[in-house]
Amino acid sequence: MSSFPESAANVEPSDLSLLEQWPTAERADKPEEACGVFGVYAPEEAVATLTYFGLYSLQHRGQEAAGIAAYDQGEVHLHKGTGLVSQVFTDEALKEIPGQWAVGHTRYSTTGSSHAVNAQPAVLETRLGSMALTHNGNIVNVNSLREALLKRENYSLVTTSDSELIAIALMEAVNDGDDWVEGAIAAFKRCEGAFSLVIGTPAGIIAARDPHGIRPLVLGYMGHQAPNGVGAGYSAGQFVVASETCGLDIVGATYLRDVDPGELLWIDADGVRSVKWAHAERKLCIFEMIYFARPDSVFHGESLYSYRKRIGQQLAKESPADVDLVMAVPDSGVPAAIGYSEASGIPYAEGLIKNRYVGRTFIQPTQTMREAGIRMKLNPMRDVLEGKRVLIVDDSIVRGTTSRKLVQMLYDAGATEVHMRISSPPVTHPCFYGIDTDSQDQLIAATKSVAEIEAQLGADSLAYLSWEGMLAATGVAVDSFCSACFTGDYPIDIPVQVKNSKLMLEKIPAAV
Ligand code: SF4
Repeated sequence: MSSFPESAANVEPSDLSLLEQWPTAERADKPEEACGVFGVYAPEEAVATLTYFGLYSLQHRGQEAAGIAAYDQGEVHLHKGTGLVSQVFTDEALKEIPGQWAVGHTRYSTTGSSHAVNAQPAVLETRLGSMALTHNGNIVNVNSLREALLKRENYSLVTTSDSELIAIALMEAVNDGDDWVEGAIAAFKRCEGAFSLVIGTPAGIIAARDPHGIRPLVLGYMGHQAPNGVGAGYSAGQFVVASETCGLDIVGATYLRDVDPGELLWIDADGVRSVKWAHAERKLCIFEMIYFARPDSVFHGESLYSYRKRIGQQLAKESPADVDLVMAVPDSGVPAAIGYSEASGIPYAEGLIKNRYVGRTFIQPTQTMREAGIRMKLNPMRDVLEGKRVLIVDDSIVRGTTSRKLVQMLYDAGATEVHMRISSPPVTHPCFYGIDTDSQDQLIAATKSVAEIEAQLGADSLAYLSWEGMLAATGVAVDSFCSACFTGDYPIDIPVQVKNSKLMLEKIPAAV
């Protein structure tokens, strides 16, 4: 039996070959986000179009593929493909996705390759009708789930994605019972790792988070009238779920609350019902706050712009410098650079201009362009930098290749000194929970001290934000975050085989 019968039908062979040609060396020198998920229950509205705009606002969470599945009188309509949201959907395509509720997904591959067959939503047939699953995160017990499935004769896995394994677990559980919620809970209990899920069914939408709430997921409502209810449930209305609040804003929805770790929401014509399906131990990914999520998204009651400005202020206190101007690596370093400038009193300036229209291009740069390095994305402002002692703020360093080119670029543009400040601690460990941070041997801070990295980048000075400073600035309990890529202290156990696939086997020196 083909588990994802619709997937292959939507894949253009050319999509696949193009993605396979994408050279690893050209990948961004940043951790890359896993996915964005979105769902809307609004029987009176054009739900496919709302989902399109929701995905549009979550585009930063994945640029490799996008898809929408809408339910019309219980029948599912699916459209998905590789590329940006604006490339996958046209007006005509959206008109052909009628429905009263819909779910959508933007993908960046972590587990599973970039193949278009892994695009979501993943639609599977169950005894209760078609379900459409969207997933943000990473399952760590993927090998044992896969082995269990492959032992059964009637399964042949179509994708290389861990999301397919969740979908099959859910399909099996639903087929064994007669209730979507009970089936979902049984399936989630078999999955270990990070998952924020939005699942379409012929009867309504399921939104759920893993017991640690590693990836974010929020609930909102549409219309002027807030639904009656409290955390345990809400009366009938129009509801939206999204990875981040920016996904609510774009469709005019109002934030109600986060979906809690270990919670499942069932959304249908009667409203929203909450089920706590597991004991929760909150461990939100701190990197969501530092870098991944959009600065206009709200976490813990404030925009991430405010949090990121605050960590810039903290960085200025921890690592001052005698310079003429403070600048950012745009766009993600901007709020922290402004915070640094405010706290230090050193003027902020735009020393680099970002080409906002550079997406992923499949056209190979010429050798001359390669030597020019990162100029396709960033261009230095000579008249701002010439003769100046410059402090540049970035949110993180992963492999260090881009940072080295950046420092050189600033000197070439006339800076007399270049001091680098990073608004997070050194990244010493890979992520197993849905973020692509390379294997440990690729992480520059895993093997080099700060002084060695400073020398490799060619900067006059380099300093990172302290781990304590990063967490204290959140204003919430410091133990409610995962910060394993800075400490190696993984909150969810990882099977040895999976761990060894990304971790160096020998002990690494402390990166300080
Ligand atoms: S390991 Fe790092 S990137 Fe992964 S979930 Fe934890 S804090 Fe986030």
